[in-house]
Amino acid sequence: MDNLNFDKNHIWHPYTSTTNPLPVFYVKSAKGVYLKLKNGKKLIDGMSSWWSVIHGYNNKELNKAAKDQLNKMSHIMFGGLTHQPAIDLAKKLIEITPSNLQKIFFSDSGSVSVEVAIKMAIQYWQSKKQPQKNKLLTIKSGYHGDTFKAMSVCDPETGMHHIFNGSMPQNYFAEQPKIRFSQKWDSSDILSIKTILEDNNENIAAVILEPIVQGAGGMWFYSPQYLNNLRNLCNKHNVLLIFDEIATGFGRTGKLFATNYTNIQPDIMCLGKALTGGYLSLAATLTTSEIAKTISQGEAKVFMHGPTFMANPLACAIANTNIELLFSYDWENKIKNIENQLNNELNTLKTNTKVNDVRILGAIGVVEMKEPVNMAILQQKFVDLGVWIRPFGKLIYLMPPYIIKPLEITKLTKAIKKVID
Ligand SMILES: *Cc1c(COP(=O)(O)O)cnc(C)c1O
Repeated sequence: MDNLNFDKNHIWHPYTSTTNPLPVFYVKSAKGVYLKLKNGKKLIDGMSSWWSVIHGYNNKELNKAAKDQLNKMSHIMFGGLTHQPAIDLAKKLIEITPSNLQKIFFSDSGSVSVEVAIKMAIQYWQSKKQPQKNKLLTIKSGYHGDTFKAMSVCDPETGMHHIFNGSMPQNYFAEQPKIRFSQKWDSSDILSIKTILEDNNENIAAVILEPIVQGAGGMWFYSPQYLNNLRNLCNKHNVLLIFDEIATGFGRTGKLFATNYTNIQPDIMCLGKALTGGYLSLAATLTTSEIAKTISQGEAKVFMHGPTFMANPLACAIANTNIELLFSYDWENKIKNIENQLNNELNTLKTNTKVNDVRILGAIGVVEMKEPVNMAILQQKFVDLGVWIRPFGKLIYLMPPYIIKPLEITKLTKAIKKVID
């Protein structure tokens, strides 16, 4: 059996059938913004391997960080032991995230960091002798990962909650914010979540959402004012606020964190994806000293979580170099340039009869079609055009590595225009 047939017969790929799977393309190697296929064809990567590869593939500095750390140790347990890569990374993350976030919990994937955030919130109220505060409130069209509790705060429709009926924790869903990122604020936008908070705050541990940019749930950008108002409501009703910055973190939206578009601070924040520049799976959950202290004074005295690969030294070492790399150049200007170019080249699609909307923020460009696209056909067409763009539903979108050059961006946007026509 050749490789691709073996893959087709035995290996699960994300969100596709095992009996009639979408085709996969065999990648031999990757360098910079290019994926190199088995047949020698090179594709410009427009996806950053799902938000993560911000500095490109096979990066010299990140390779060196990995090799240097490998020669010391690739992993040790974190129970009873510690190491420099974790200490350095914690220092960096505490320094660059909102100032109230002083305690950090490392885990091995974004979904797990969301589980950790939710457990922190619930254990916090448990420790404050309010165990009935154990539900979550979120907004529709969100995405927070695929583990059970994370899935329970993903959009109920696109997350297909009905399939897991009975085993799915039931949470509260407010309407998706409708006021766009740069649109004039209108307080009617916050009414839905406000009402739920007023009526149910006694059962709600925390509000969890993706600040500013909703990613996999619909690629939607909403007003910072929504979050500023939400912070006040959470304070008023004694509900914690969790920001999931797993997709938005490390510059993607034009600010280091999407939170920086607001004038507030969350109580808990999740980081992942671009944290290691797409090299290894690593995530972090940050919280306040107050929450950490309360949990430690509660019934359990400890926070009930401890993954085997917690703070994996190899991943932490790469993350440290990845953050240093980001700060070694004018990343803000770089993202601004990508944003300007995406605006110039994609906005012309707004008048296309097949296109419903075009929206751009930072290094994210979204073309929303009127009808869902045929993924298999489009995927092949994009590959034929020498680009890697993976649409879903009605959305064709770009989030390229930050190191992409203007001509390469043009190749991506031209491919989108060609494919639409
Ligand atoms: C990808 C993502 C997650 C899940 O992260 P994994 O590493 O895939 O488990 C959670 N939240 C958001 C906003 C994400 O984009």
